Amino acid sequence: MYCEKCGAELKENQTVCENCGNTPAKKEDKQVLGMKWYKFNVNFSLFFMGVLTVISGILDITQFKIDTAIMWLIYGAFAIVVRFRLSGFKKDAPLMMVCLNVVYAVVQGYNAIMYGGNSAFVLGIILAILNYIYFKKRKELFVK
Ligand SMILES: [Zn+2]
Repeated sequence: MYCEKCGAELKENQTVCENCGNTPAKKEDKQVLGMKWYKFNVNFSLFFMGVLTVISGILDITQFKIDTAIMWLIYGAFAIVVRFRLSGFKKDAPLMMVCLNVVYAVVQGYNAIMYGGNSAFVLGIILAILNYIYFKKRKELFVK
């Protein structure tokens, strides 16, 4: 870094130029964004959901609900893939995360229409929106 006024070399984090007394413009303070939700997903949630939905899929096979069984098995595998894309800070990871939530909503909605019961369809949609906002703010982190 060099002084804007006299061109003297400045040490890193030096706030006043020793040569001319100029105060260099402060580097824009980068907003430090929390990563708790990211860590929760990478370290726990996506693994948990992946395993849980694979178990759901297997249980559905025993009840001859082959359609939802296949959907849950695919979702479970997809969740694990997204987990590793996120942990590797891959460029497509945020979009995959939102897609995963949409897939979840679709499977839950389908399950409710075909077999009744409570649907977590809305949860999937809410998560998709929240993750879209969350990861959009942090998109510079996902560059690999
Ligand atoms: Zn200077």
